[in-house]
Order: sequence, then structure tokens, then C-alpha cells
Amino acid sequence: MKYADSVVDLIGGTPLVRLNRVTEGISATVLAKVEYLNPGGSAKDRIATRIIDAAEREGLLKPGGTIVEPTSGNTGVGLALVAQQRGYRCVFVLPDKVGEDKRNVLTAYGAEIVVTPTAVAPEDPESYYSVSDRLAREIPGAFKPNQYANPNGPRSHYETTGPEIWADTDGRVTHFVAGVGTGGTITGTGRYLREVSADRAGGRVQIVGVDPVGSVYSGGTGRPYLVEGVGEDFWPSAYDPAVVDRIVAVSDQQAFDLTLRLAREEGLLVGGSCGMAAQGALEVARELGPDDIVVVLLPDGGRGYLGKIFNDGWMRRHGFSHATGSPTVADLLG
Ligand code: PMP
Repeated sequence: MKYADSVVDLIGGTPLVRLNRVTEGISATVLAKVEYLNPGGSAKDRIATRIIDAAEREGLLKPGGTIVEPTSGNTGVGLALVAQQRGYRCVFVLPDKVGEDKRNVLTAYGAEIVVTPTAVAPEDPESYYSVSDRLAREIPGAFKPNQYANPNGPRSHYETTGPEIWADTDGRVTHFVAGVGTGGTITGTGRYLREVSADRAGGRVQIVGVDPVGSVYSGGTGRPYLVEGVGEDFWPSAYDPAVVDRIVAVSDQQAFDLTLRLAREEGLLVGGSCGMAAQGALEVARELGPDDIVVVLLPDGGRGYLGKIFNDGWMRRHGFSHATGSPTVADLLG
């Protein structure tokens, strides 16, 4: 019989799929690593198990304990999956720009959520960093994973995402592209791919980070952007800039345009940070030749964004062009 002992054992081992239509005019091969096929629907499932295992080992998380974390949703789902299997309570702190669908997913897994304003500085007592610090101090038996500083985040990608990409491309990957939020994905995966390819004839894997225009990684100060889960207004220690060869900045408009195209043309219903990462990957791939193999990581699925990027009215209200709606009968009949 073939079955997993628990849903936690289904995390990782996600497939690569070639992008065929949005790559028109590009001779390099562009492969997407489809992280929404993780059981919790995102790449963040990977970091959750490793972070909780380490916390148990180090005595930071004890039976009956509570996990407190500021998260845009995906990390919460991963943590909630593992926590419910082991009897921990979860309290997540979310900025108010996170969509209602994403919030409801967290509560569906049994987590509790606290919503905080987006438009305040990180040091403001109302910010989601400050609120989660206070909850972690005041709730007895609380453990704060702190994905922005926890070395087990990048380590999980070093041990799983990187080796999977290397194995699935038979060691032929030439460029790895990922959006940067905490920086854990690009740091862990990038470090592994650099090391494993260090002595390869033809040179090592190039590591490309993609960042929303205005965020610190591409030289901004943290000006608000609407793409979720990526970009920062500070430098987290989960991010090691020494691993990254190049950063590409992408606007919300470009990110959302490509997100819509990935759904319509590639059959990949993914989130806005995926459109952003893929846009960065296409910009890099355009400069490359037929022997190059670009792997871009798509962190999550699109169902959490149906009321936003995939909603015509929301797109128009936020000043984005591109109609997502279907034609009316009148349009079709002229
Ligand atoms: N996209 C989404 C939707 C995310 O939730 C995250 C995690 N914040 C990322 C991209 C970036 O991943 P990382 O934190 O590993 O840089």
C-alpha cells in the first residue's frame, strides 16, 4: 500500500514544469517549481516542520505550548498543520492588507488570528512585529518561531528545495530565481545550489532574487506595494545577501499582469509573488541562450487572491490596467 503516515510527510518533493507560452521569444528553458502542491499550499510548509522540530529539541516548545508568529498567511498554514498534529495552540498576527480568504484558511486549520494595521512603522506598538512580540512575552509557554531570524528557515530550503532542484535538472540548472520576503528561500536554496555546482564545468548556478519596486532588497525604503509575502522595510537575518548574485525589481503592475497570464496561458493559478518571481525569471532568461536552464520558484497558489488580483473591480480600484473579466453576451455579438 502507498500512503503517508501523516499530512506532514507530504511536504516537499514538488515538481518542475516548463513554462511554454509566457516564454515566447526566449530560447532558454524556464522551469517553474510549483510549491502550491505542498499540502498546506505553499513553500512555507517546508520551514514549519524544521522550525518546530528544532524548538522541541532545544526545549523552547513544550507540550501544551503556544506558537505565536507574525505571518502573511502561508507560514501560519505550515505551522498550523504541524502544530495541530502535535497538540500545540497557534496565534498568528497578520497585517490588515492580507485578504480575508487567507485569514479564513488559518482559522479553518484551528489557529487564532490577530489583525494589525499595515500603514505603521515596524517599531510602532501597533505593528505586527510589536504585537507578536508582546503576545509571545505575555502568553505562558509561548514560542515565537521568528521566521525572519530563525536559521531553520533557510536550512530547510538548503536541505530540501535545493537538492530537489539539483536532482530534477540532473545538475544542469544554470539560474535559480526566487522572490525575497524573509529571504529564507533564496538564501537556503541558493547556498545549496552554489555549493553543489561550485566546481562544475561551465560555471556555478547564478542566484537571482526578485523584489517589489520600493522594497529594501532592490534599494528602496519599504514604500508600500500590494504584492503579498515579498519585499521588506528592514533587513532580516534569514537573508544572506552574499548568496545572491543579482536582484531584479518588479512593479505590482508587472507582477499582477504575469500572475494573470500564468493562470490563463500556463494553467498555473498562483499568487502575486509568483507572477513577480516569474517576471524576474523572464527578464533574466531573455538575456540567455538555448543551453541555459532557469528554475523559478512559485511559492503559493492563487485561491487566496481570487478577490484581489483575479478580481477586475479590485484591480481597477487600485489603479491597475488589464481586464480579468469575461466578455459579456453583448461583446460577443458585437
Ligand atoms: N511569496 C509568498 C506568497 C510568501 O508568503 C513568501 C514568504 N514570506 C515569499 C514569497 C518569500 O519567501 P521567503 O520568506 O522565503 O523569502
